[in-house]
Amino acid sequence: MMDPKQKQFSIWYVFIALWALMLIQIFVTPFLFLKPMEIPYSEFKAAVAEGKVEEVSIGSTVIHGRMKADPSAPTKEGRLFDTVRVEDPDLIRDLQAHQVKITGVIESTFLRDLLSWVIPIGLFFAVWLFLLNRMGQGQGGFMTVGRSKAKIYMEKEVKVGFNDVAGVDEAKEELREVIEFLKTPQKFTRLGGKIPKGILLVGPPGTGKTLLAKAVAGEAGVPFFSISGSEFVEMFVGVGAARVRDLFLQAKEKAPCIIFIDELDALGKARGMGPMAHEEREQTLNQLLVEMDGFDPRGGVILMAATNRPEILDPALLRAGRFDRHVLVDRPDKGGRLAILKLHARNVPLGPDADLEVIAAMTAGLVGADLANIINEAALLAVRRGKDAVGFAELQEAVERVIAGLEKKNRVLNQMEKERVAHHELGHALVALSIPGADAVQKISIIPRGIAALGYTIQLPTEDRFLMTKSELENKIAVLLGGRVAEEIIYREVSTGAQDDLMKATDIAKSMVKRYGMSEKLGLLSFERDRQPLFLQNGQPQAPGDYSEETAREIDCEVHRIIDEQYARVSRVLNSQQEVFREAAAVLLKKEIITGEELKAIIAKSSARQTIS
Ligand code: ADP
Ligand code: ZN
Repeated sequence: MMDPKQKQFSIWYVFIALWALMLIQIFVTPFLFLKPMEIPYSEFKAAVAEGKVEEVSIGSTVIHGRMKADPSAPTKEGRLFDTVRVEDPDLIRDLQAHQVKITGVIESTFLRDLLSWVIPIGLFFAVWLFLLNRMGQGQGGFMTVGRSKAKIYMEKEVKVGFNDVAGVDEAKEELREVIEFLKTPQKFTRLGGKIPKGILLVGPPGTGKTLLAKAVAGEAGVPFFSISGSEFVEMFVGVGAARVRDLFLQAKEKAPCIIFIDELDALGKARGMGPMAHEEREQTLNQLLVEMDGFDPRGGVILMAATNRPEILDPALLRAGRFDRHVLVDRPDKGGRLAILKLHARNVPLGPDADLEVIAAMTAGLVGADLANIINEAALLAVRRGKDAVGFAELQEAVERVIAGLEKKNRVLNQMEKERVAHHELGHALVALSIPGADAVQKISIIPRGIAALGYTIQLPTEDRFLMTKSELENKIAVLLGGRVAEEIIYREVSTGAQDDLMKATDIAKSMVKRYGMSEKLGLLSFERDRQPLFLQNGQPQAPGDYSEETAREIDCEVHRIIDEQYARVSRVLNSQQEVFREAAAVLLKKEIITGEELKAIIAKSSARQTIS
C-alpha cells in the first residue's frame, strides 16, 4: 500500500494553479506572442503626427499597427500596438500625410486572443497532468480521480464460514456473540445483551482478520460490506467523507449486516500527526466518528475493522461506544498452524509421506496467509513435476521458498535457536514463579514476533500499580536477568538474546539509585529530574546532572551492586531447578506456547518426584 500522504490533494493546489496561470498570462504571453500594447487613441494620433508609425490596418472597431523600428533598438521590427477606432474623419488624411502604410483590414482578434489563453492553459495542464501521473503511479494515476476507486464491496451471500478459519479459536469464541446478535437482534436486545458497536481485530497481516470478519457475516447469513481504509483517503478533500456517508447509508438499508474496514490505521491515524495536517484524512476520520456515534447497533449494523498497528490509531476511535471491543488475532501456534495447513490442503491430494505436522513444526512465526501460500506452492511444484499427489519434498521446498520470501520481515528460528529461546524464556518465567511478590506469569511463547522479540514471557500484574516498593523493583530486575542466567546455566555460554533484558534491568537499577533514593550509600538524594519533553527544552541539551564526578562513580558502583545482588539471587533460584528446566523446555519446544498454570504443574510434578527419590 502506498502512503496516503502521496494521494493527498487539497484545494490549495487549485489556488496555486490559478495563480500561476495568471502570472503566465501577465508576464509570459506578451513576449511569447508579441502581444500588442494597448494605447489610447490620442497617443496613437500623436505618434502618427510625430511620424513614428510604420503601418496600420483598420478594422471596424480596432486599429492594429506597428511603430517604426527604433534605430537604436536591436530588433528590426517596431513594436505592435492596438487602439480603438473612434469616428475620426481626418484619420486617413493624417495617415497619408505621414506616409503610414495602410495594409489589410483585420476584422477579428478573437482567434489570437483565444490562443493566447488556451496555449498557456494547455501547457500548464500538460505539466500538471505529468506530475500528478508520476505521483499517482501504481494507483491508477490522475485520470481515475472522480471515478470511485474505493469500491464498496458488497457480498449478499457470504460463502465463508467459521469452518474456513482455523487456528484462531479464541477470536472465534469472542465473535460468537456477534453472530448470535446478527441472527436475532430482537431476541438479543430483549434479553438485555449489550451489543458491541465496533469490533477491532488486531493482529499482524495475514493472520486472517478479513477472513474472520467475513466468516462472521457468513455464519450469521447477513450481507458483508467491505472497504479498505487506504482507499478512503482520496486526492480531493471531502471525497472520503462522502464515501463514509455513502457506505453507512447503503449498509443501513441492508441491515442486519456487517461493515468491515480493512487497514483502519491508514484512515485512523491520530489527528494532527506528521508534518502536514492531512485535511482529507481528518475529514474522513471525523465523518466516520460522526457516523459511528449516529447509528444504533440495535438497527443491526455492526462495524468491524482490522489493524496491525492499534497504537497509532486516534484515541477517539477507541473510545467507549466506538471501537471499544478488541479481538486479538495473533500468529498461530503449532496446533493452529497444523489446523490451517490441513484446512488449505482439503482439496489437495497429499501423498502418504506428506506429514503436515512436520511442516507445522517448521513454520513457527508464519501466519495463515503464508501457510496457505505454502500449500499452494507445493501443489504447483507437484504439478510441474508431473506427480499426482503432493509429497513431503514439495512441501519442504515450498516452505523454503515462502520463508526465503519473508526472510527479511520475519525470522524463522532454526532448532538450535529455538532451544535457546525456550530456555531463555523459561528462565524469566521460573524466576517470576519462584520469587514471592513477582507478577503472575500468563504465558510463555517461543513464536517469534517480528525481528526484535524471538520469544516472550507475558507477565500480568495482579492489580494496577502506581507505587512500587524497592523489593518489587528488585524482583523486576531479577525476572529480567532470568533469561540470561538460564542461558549461562544450560549452555555455559551466553548469546546476544539478552540485550534488551539487560538494558531494561540497568534502567531500573539506575532509576532506583538516581531518582528514588533507594541506595543507602547515596542516601535520600534524587539526582535526576523527570525528563522534560523535547519541545520544552528550548533547544538546550539537558544538563548532565549536577553532581560531582565522585558521586557519579558511586552511582555506577551502586547500580552495579544492585544488578550483581539480583544476579546472585537468580543464579541460586535457577541452579536448583535444572530438572524443571529440562522438562519444561521439552514441553515448550513441542507446544511453542505454555501458560503459567501449565508451568506450575510441571514444577509441582518435578518437585514431587524429587521428594520421593
Ligand atoms: P488479514 O486480513 O489478517 O491480513 P486475510 O484474512 O486477508 O488476513 O488472510 C489472507 C488469506 O490467508 C486468507 O484468505 C486465507 O486464505 C489465509 N488465511 C489467513 N489466516 C487464516 C486462518 N486463520 N485460517 C485459514 N486461512 C487463513
Ligand atoms: Zn529475555
